Amino acid sequence: MFDNLSERLERSFKILKGEGKITEINVAETLKDVRRALLDADVNYKVAKSFTDTVKEKALGQNVLTAVKPSQLMVKIVHDELTKLMGGDTAEIELKNRPAVILMSGLQGSGKTTFSGKLARMLKTKKNRKPLLVACDVYRPAAIEQLKVLGQQVEVPVYCEMDSKDPVQIALHAIQEAKAKGYDLVIVDTAGRLAIDEQMMNEIEAIKNAINPDETLFVVDAMTGQDAVNTAREFNERLDFNGVVLTKLDGDTRGGAALSIRTVVNKPIKFVGTGEKLDAVDQFHPARMADRILGMGDIVSLVERAQEQYDEEEAKRLQKKIQKNQFDFNDFLTQIHQIKKMGNLKELASMIPGVGKAIKDIDIDDNAFKSIEAIIYSMTPQERTHPEILNGSRRTRIAKGSGTSIQEVNRLLKQFDQTRKMMKMVTGSKMAGMMQKMKK
Ligand code: GDP
Repeated sequence: MFDNLSERLERSFKILKGEGKITEINVAETLKDVRRALLDADVNYKVAKSFTDTVKEKALGQNVLTAVKPSQLMVKIVHDELTKLMGGDTAEIELKNRPAVILMSGLQGSGKTTFSGKLARMLKTKKNRKPLLVACDVYRPAAIEQLKVLGQQVEVPVYCEMDSKDPVQIALHAIQEAKAKGYDLVIVDTAGRLAIDEQMMNEIEAIKNAINPDETLFVVDAMTGQDAVNTAREFNERLDFNGVVLTKLDGDTRGGAALSIRTVVNKPIKFVGTGEKLDAVDQFHPARMADRILGMGDIVSLVERAQEQYDEEEAKRLQKKIQKNQFDFNDFLTQIHQIKKMGNLKELASMIPGVGKAIKDIDIDDNAFKSIEAIIYSMTPQERTHPEILNGSRRTRIAKGSGTSIQEVNRLLKQFDQTRKMMKMVTGSKMAGMMQKMKK
């Protein structure tokens, strides 16, 4: 799922690749693509529009950090907004009463019964609950049978009354039974119809009013796209449910429902079904889903870490020094410290202009930094600011002092020299642009 959307989004970010900065023009172009990708993924039109409007505002108002490319920054902003779109924080189910009662609602075929079984199993094994499943479909004996089979598979008893035609009474009796027999969780599966009709709505509303559940969940087939959103809206108006269960996310859904439902009905997605098997169910985590949609979780965390470490004053100071070709070993050291603070060295190193290049070929681990630091610490202040005075005897002294070899010292000096040359080359052009703080 989402493969297509992921691919399309990735392509839209490519527009920004090679761009030094975020501008109104390249942002507009990127976002036009993003919006098209969302619409093709069956995201509600209004949702897609307000999404890209927000991203645009954020992108143009952002500082472009030294260590972050515009395309990376855009990935991060889109990621954060996708997370927000899907509800932000993970929404838990709240089970306060004893027994706690969960009511399932949704159309026939949405996956209600299957999900009831999955949830019973999940809460039993992971939360140590003692569930009782309740079959409230008085119209289709086959539905009761289906729940019984599921109950057997997950080893949870099923309450049913084969001769009753009153789902409200069945649900109430089931809760009494749970109390009497020490079940601490009652999951009520209800009848669905192929389309919304008044009788079904009245019935489930009556059940809800009678049993006053801790959670009313609305189950919907993600493959039905925009229809899923419309159905959700109608159920929500009648039931004011607590959360959504999106099933069949393993199918070739284009993902639009997952992205629109939260905004349209303002209720969180709490679970997703990802297969017919009874363990194919997950709690819904908006941030993780955004990671999956973008498939670029690494970039997102890199940008986050860079943003945390960003020191505007330091960036300006460094920019000036590079422009004057005064970048020295003290700056080199500062940059290394900054990289170290951000962690995950191998990925990060390549993001720091200049320094990244210089240490790219070294097998980067903490030890690599340690010897570089040791070499620089063994230099005198004058040597650090004027590396050109480092002749043979000074190099030998530094190697000894730092516990490294003369080859290592030479290698670092060579790399430092290349870095400086490269910085000089690009100063005033691309590098300066990259380092500039962008504000609208
Ligand atoms: P109900 O009528 O709402 O109770 O729906 P069911 O639970 O009977 O599910 C309808 C069909 O969808 C069944 O064939 C299920 O096996 C299937 N199904 C339910 N959840 C999922 C899911 O997450 N993924 C897939 N692929 N199929 C599912």
